[in-house]
Amino acid sequence: MKKFLAAVMCSALTLSSQVVAAEDKPVAIVIHGGAGTILKKNFTPELEKAYKDTLSEAAKAGYALLEQGEPGEKAVIAAIQILETSPLFNAGIGAVYTWEGEHELDASLMHGGTHNAGAVAGVKTIRSPIAAASAVMHLSPHVMLSGEGAEAFAEEQGLTLVDNHIFDTERRLESLKKVKARMESAGLYGDQKGNERFGTVGAVVLDSEGNLVAGTSTGGMTAKCYGRIGDSPVIGAGTWADNDSCAVSATGHGEFFIRYHVAADICTRMKYQGTTLKEASDTVIFDVLKPVGGDGGIIAIDKEGNIAAPFNSAGMYRAKIDGKGVLSVGIFEQWEIL
Ligand code: ASP
Repeated sequence: MKKFLAAVMCSALTLSSQVVAAEDKPVAIVIHGGAGTILKKNFTPELEKAYKDTLSEAAKAGYALLEQGEPGEKAVIAAIQILETSPLFNAGIGAVYTWEGEHELDASLMHGGTHNAGAVAGVKTIRSPIAAASAVMHLSPHVMLSGEGAEAFAEEQGLTLVDNHIFDTERRLESLKKVKARMESAGLYGDQKGNERFGTVGAVVLDSEGNLVAGTSTGGMTAKCYGRIGDSPVIGAGTWADNDSCAVSATGHGEFFIRYHVAADICTRMKYQGTTLKEASDTVIFDVLKPVGGDGGIIAIDKEGNIAAPFNSAGMYRAKIDGKGVLSVGIFEQWEIL
């Protein structure tokens, strides 16, 4: 079993040729809190402020670690854990319900320098799925663990296990009732079409050593079938990081993001076609996914600190702190990124 510290030190050593001194290299972070039918008319000023405040808090927490020269993974995990703890977002507390009325959580983490990655899928009792993904990445020889096995592994590594009800919220229960009623009246059990509740969280960073890191955590989709796994824990679909191109975290209708290999496709287009981060991201979100009905968006960052955050849904919760240290928070409008 690998030890976290050893792995971090090792990755820093093996990457020494790519490392650029912290003072010469900007650090930056982008986070998302999900995409979907997010319409301004459905928000009170108080609710909008609550979302923006939590997004800012998460981005700042991650950025502060990056500024201190901490590894990108730490920043990604810190930002995501704030969102996993907030009932506003569909990850950890506030996760959506399965058809049966439980929470089944997915998460993943990837380092763009080492290509090391970890994921957990369909876990019900791990308080912080992103911490479990990190444990799989650093403390096991595997990339993905699922269900009870993942929970047993997390317990062995000293992570906190909780009752599934700790993730309950009244708001998500109401969503479950509505979605079930709609599906039942349309005879659509298991069909997620028209399910507007996207709220996955994710973070991508450029750290002071020039490494790109991505992470994603989710409760999946409301009224999902037992055992259903979305794109969020699938390396290449919901999460991808490669120091030679970019780091991406996705949110949206997971089945489409898996079929179109969205996160890796964006980075691969950059790597082999020489396109910019913005071009690659826009092409996949608007030209590839949109025509086939794949609703959602992504956040992405490259090694120059360029940022992209396109979405083809009505809105996407997001925040960024760029290489100049400037914080921006967005929900409804696309960011103008040149
Ligand atoms: N992508 C997630 C899934 O399909 C859902 C989301 O982003 O809200 O599980």
